[in-house]
Order: sequence, then C-alpha cells, then structure tokens
Amino acid sequence: MIIGIDDTDSRSEGGCTTYIAAVLVEKLKNYGDPVGYPLLIRLNPNIRYKTRGNGAVAINIDTDNPKKVKRIVLAEVKSQSKLSDENTNPGVVFLNGISENLRNDLRSFSRCAIQDILRIEDAKHIINKYNIDSYEFKNGRGLIGALAAAGIASTGMSDHTFELIAYRRSDRVGTPREIDLRSIREADMRTYPRTWDTVDIANRTVVCAPHGNDPVLFGIRGEREGVIDAYNHIISEPVERSTLFLTNQGTDMHLVRSTIDQTADRRSYILNGVVCDMPRTICGGHVIFRITDPQSGSGIDCAAFEPTKNFRQIIRQLVPGDQVVVCGSVNSKTVHLEKIKIERLAARYEVRNPVCTCGRRMKSAGVGQGYRCKRCGDTADVPDRVLIERNLNCGWYEVPPCARRHIAKPLVRCVGDVHPGR
Ligand code: ATP
Repeated sequence: MIIGIDDTDSRSEGGCTTYIAAVLVEKLKNYGDPVGYPLLIRLNPNIRYKTRGNGAVAINIDTDNPKKVKRIVLAEVKSQSKLSDENTNPGVVFLNGISENLRNDLRSFSRCAIQDILRIEDAKHIINKYNIDSYEFKNGRGLIGALAAAGIASTGMSDHTFELIAYRRSDRVGTPREIDLRSIREADMRTYPRTWDTVDIANRTVVCAPHGNDPVLFGIRGEREGVIDAYNHIISEPVERSTLFLTNQGTDMHLVRSTIDQTADRRSYILNGVVCDMPRTICGGHVIFRITDPQSGSGIDCAAFEPTKNFRQIIRQLVPGDQVVVCGSVNSKTVHLEKIKIERLAARYEVRNPVCTCGRRMKSAGVGQGYRCKRCGDTADVPDRVLIERNLNCGWYEVPPCARRHIAKPLVRCVGDVHPGR
C-alpha cells in the first residue's frame, strides 16, 4: 500500500508534513513492513499555495491490515494538521494494486505536479477514474501533492538524493534551536561533496537548520552515506526522532528544456540565449539583463535577485554577445536565475590611440586628421582596437546554498565545466 500525504502545515502555526511521515513510519511498523525509504517529493516550486518548499510525502508499506493502517494515517493527519489556517487543505491517498493504465496516468500527473500547474479537479479525475481511496480535509488541495507523491512512489524516479531530517522534542518547538555551529561546519567539511547545502561558506550562513516554529531541527541533504556521516557529527539539543527520506531534491526535475517564445509564468526552464544588454543593478540590489533567441528573435529578462548574493558578481560581468544557457523559473516574464552556463564569451575591444614605432602612444592630430607622434612625427589614420581580457571563465555557475531551491541540482552533483557555489 502506498500512502501519499500533503498540505498539513501552516506558515504561522507550524507543523510539517515530513514530521507526520516520520511519526507514521514508526507507528505503522506494528502493522506491516516498510518498503524502501519514505519519499519526500518536491513539486513545482512556483505554486502560490505552498508553505515553504512545496513538499509532499509518500510511504510504502507491505501490510495485511490495510484498514488499521488507514485508520492510523488519517488519525495522525487529522490531529497534526493545522486546519485553522485557511491555506491548509490536507489530502491523503492510498494506492493498492496499481494497474498499468493507472501507472501511466500517475506518471504524467506526477510530472505535471513537478513541472506544471494542476487543479484539484485534475487529481479528483484520476481518483474517480480508478476509484482510489482518498481523503480530503477542507477544499482538499492537498490531494494534488498526495497523489503526485504516491505516483512517484509507484512509478519510480530517474534520479534521487537523500535528506536525513532530525526533529525537535515537542516542548522545544517554537524556541531557538540549540545546535553547535562548529559541529555543523565540521560535519560539512568532513562530508562535502557527499553532502551539500549544509552551510554556505561564502555567505557565512547555516543552511541546514530552519528558523520557524516547525518541528524540524535540521536536515542534511546529500548521498545516503554522506548524510548519515554528517548527522553523526552534529552536536545539538535532544533529537526526538530522525528519518532518512529518499527525495527528488537536488535533481532539477522541475526544469523543462524550451525556447524563450514558449515560456509561461510559474514554470521552470532551461533556455539558450545571447545576452543583449549590459546587466544593470536595480533598486534592492537585484541584477537584471536580457537574453534573446537568435532564431526566433524573442527575448526575456533574467534576474539574479539580491538573495543570490555573490552569484550576482558573475552576472554583472556578462556583456552583450555572450552565449548562455539559463535555468530558472519564469515569473512576471522574468527568469529567476538558479544556474547559468556561459558557453561563449563575446570578444570585447577597447579603442586606443595607436602606438608609434618609437614606442610612444600617438596623440590626436585634430578632428578627422588621424594621429601623430609628438616625438618623431609619424602619423596613423585609425586607432588601435585592443582586445580586453575578460575576467570570467566559461562553464556553469549557480546561486549559493543560502539561495538554492530544494529541487535544484547543485553543481557539485554535475560533471564537466562547473563552478559549484559553496
Ligand atoms: P512544506 O514543504 O513545509 O510541507 P509546502 O511548501 O509543501 O509545505 P503545502 O502546505 O504542501 O506547502 O502546500 C502546497 C499546496 O499546493 C498543496 O495543497 C499541494 O497539493 C498543492 N500543489 C502542489 N503542486 C502543485 C501543482 N503543480 N499545481 C497545483 N497545486 C499544487
């Protein structure tokens, strides 16, 4: 039986859907055998209803007591959901005996949930078509994420990473987190690149611990052995429980290869283009430039926002003519940059007065009269064009860990010409 759950938490009142999964994994052990790891699936990061990272969870259990399992799951979701928040609309689905047709429908539904925007009716259509056991609270928007996570659990993922999440004791939730920062830095040094986004060295920030009133103490992202190793080196307040999730975080599953003229708001893309104006820093420290597609002639603005910190220094060095590939979400017809590949740097020239055979630089001989050397009298008609050295290398660059989306693939996972942000 695959159980999908989503939309239980609230920005103001706390809670966390992954915590419900962590508790259920323990409770359900008495009624069946877990199959694989619980899943933490990140869906389209541009959904306006999301609380934080648009995550949904799925648990797979081999049970001969499905009724009892359902009762426990629903009781847990009901008791832990922050139902008084109007934006909390939990959904739960139970998949049992999945036909080939259902698997195919789930595959495309889950892909859409990660890359596109769905309606509650889209989830209900599949639920009704296949008579799927499902439960909704309030408007049931959580059915979208619940079905998508359960769908991934049943169809598999082409790529995955892990996150080991440590949870706080309930009496501590809402108080400042007590974590030994030195132990976090050491855990990071010890395990990077098998773990990532634990700390942001350039921006002196701890990334793995949230700040809200949710039950998460910290979460270590990375490869399986790496996250366990890092976890064992972190000194902190007592951990109530910890759970290892298999996840699509760090996979870029949200990105769709496309062309500028085909983009739509609230989707995320990989786009080729040529820089067509000088990047400019606007109010708030955001850096904006425009790229065009030489084939269609269409153009789109790209933004490295202030929270992307040192990434903006790379962006500011772009000049018209640079060939790039940009990755990020499109909102208000602007690409919110997550990564950029500089494919080819445009040649930049500076115009200077010519150098005479005697080695001195000539002076202008007057408007329209070329140049003359003051010492030996030699003349020249045209100025020199001097190639300016670009202080930028080709390759992939990314926003720093403190600005990275859960689902974005960190460059430390990529091969080739990469400059991982750290
Ligand atoms: P957290 O990560 O802290 O658990 P969250 O950021 O995942 O919270 P939710 O509370 O789950 O946010 O709210 C997201 C809502 O958006 C859910 O109801 C989910 O079903 C819905 N949703 C997810 N993906 C899509 C999508 N592609 N199209 C439409 N709705 C979506």
